[in-house]
Amino acid sequence: MTDAAKPSVLVTGGAGYIGSHAVLALRDAGWPVAVIDNFSTGFRFAIPDGVPIYEGDIADRELLARIFTEQNTRAVMHFAGSIVVPESVSDPLKYYNNNTVKSRALIEAAVGSGVPHFIFSSTAAIYGMPEVAAVTEDTPPAPINPYGWSKLMTEQMLGDTANAHAMNFCALRYFNVAGADPQARTGQSTEGATHLIKIAVEAALGKRTHVNVFGTDYDTPDGTGVRDYIHVSDLAAAHVLALEALIEQPKRSLTMNCGYGRGFSVLEVLDAVDRVTNLTVERRMEGRRAGDSDSLISDPSRIRKTLPWEPKHADLDVIIAHALQWERKLSDLRGE
Ligand code: UDP
Repeated sequence: MTDAAKPSVLVTGGAGYIGSHAVLALRDAGWPVAVIDNFSTGFRFAIPDGVPIYEGDIADRELLARIFTEQNTRAVMHFAGSIVVPESVSDPLKYYNNNTVKSRALIEAAVGSGVPHFIFSSTAAIYGMPEVAAVTEDTPPAPINPYGWSKLMTEQMLGDTANAHAMNFCALRYFNVAGADPQARTGQSTEGATHLIKIAVEAALGKRTHVNVFGTDYDTPDGTGVRDYIHVSDLAAAHVLALEALIEQPKRSLTMNCGYGRGFSVLEVLDAVDRVTNLTVERRMEGRRAGDSDSLISDPSRIRKTLPWEPKHADLDVIIAHALQWERKLSDLRGE
């Protein structure tokens, strides 16, 4: 697609971790981009200069209608939401509000303004405790926590909406997103993060004393949880390709897993962190965390068949090295 043909994209949650990488991927590929973010967990420094920023709520219909007109928006990439599985167990209504109710309002605003394409951040958490070693998109959804349900409900709304209105959508079901922009332009900046690789690199840099290993009695080779870790820049690239696919075939909607199709245990991740940093991060064996599955690995066949997606950073050590590089830059930015 020539740059002139590329329509304008609104990124919700563009100041957040994955959203800010999508903004970079879109900009690098020549797409006009705007961001809406309420800055509850995002950061202005994550958004590159020159990108129009609307501070506000994704459920604010008047604001959205204005943005869609001002920006001539033709596609929404929807990242805004809450993402911490254990928190969704203790505060489910927060998750149904932020991830489901507000997504409904956003979808309605998009339909109301005639925005024809919608890309949604979904999650492998919709699969729950799959019986299969690698999950395909046809594996029946069976979430085991409110986070997974809140995202699955939004997938359902999008499917029904695409059947009824002139909109197609792509739901990308992310496995475990980690790493950071290879040029360290953005990265995972959340304070009090709960995700394993972020926590482990914080520990390696002395920002934490140790890493808790949550659960050592899972039905996995070493007893710790196994996940399919995907580099955030590969994931962002998949969004841009998915958008092109939606534009090329406006009557087709897509639901695709985003992972590499291989898993690492918590202990394997911590070994890799030690290897990359040349340090030994202290591990403390703890009980299981609420809402966790033993193993979640994608079968990436569908995305590989559907999109010309060639992951560039499918290496655990590279993911960790980029996460570490960003963590150091973050310390500088914060004057630590
Ligand atoms: N985990 C852990 N210690 C931590 C954070 C996570 O042992 O401090 C484990 C967690 O139980 C799971 C895996 O690491 O098996 C990935 O968890 P994370 O929170 O990164 O992502 P999730 O899979 O919950 O989305």
